[in-house]
Amino acid sequence: MPVKRKSRGRRKGDKGSESLVHCDNCGALVPRSKIQRVTVRSSLVRGDLARELKQMGAYIAENVLVKNLCISCAIHYGILKVRSRDERKPKQFL
Ligand SMILES: [Zn+2]
Repeated sequence: MPVKRKSRGRRKGDKGSESLVHCDNCGALVPRSKIQRVTVRSSLVRGDLARELKQMGAYIAENVLVKNLCISCAIHYGILKVRSRDERKPKQFL
């Protein structure tokens, strides 16, 4: 059977079934191996002020947020990109 993507777009290999995870943006149920994990760091202090405080030797804690995104949300936010026509797998003509 011809497949469009390597490992059919997943990372599970020959593992069999696996748990489903909700997308943090749209709530879609997606297999765990297909999800895109994104780590977002956010600081409570503004950038220029944080730089000044760090130079003075202060420790500023950062909020680390891990998001699980489905493929379509990852493409929407620019984390994944649609491959150009040349990069796509060549079509098989019979
Ligand atoms: Zn989504």
